[in-house]
Amino acid sequence: MKTQLLSEDVVRNPSKCTDCGMCVPICPAQALVVDAVTKKVIFHEDKCIACELCVKICPAHAMEIDFED
Ligand code: SF4
Ligand code: SF4
Repeated sequence: MKTQLLSEDVVRNPSKCTDCGMCVPICPAQALVVDAVTKKVIFHEDKCIACELCVKICPAHAMEIDFED
């Protein structure tokens, strides 16, 4: 659930993500989690509050800001 109307969203480019896990501990909304089975990083867009911390930290630039009208 989003508590405010956002003019932008954070999206993940799966082809760039290397599943390095760096974004997992810094996400304040637990929107980025490691799958216990596959060890891949899963992005739960519905939990994301678009704080953009992961956008700044991701070494692969896989997290991107999607500007909306
Ligand atoms: S920091 Fe970037 S490359 Fe690493 S798991 Fe997160 S989205 Fe993927
Ligand atoms: S923008 Fe913020 S809340 Fe959304 S996935 Fe990245 S770190 Fe988590």
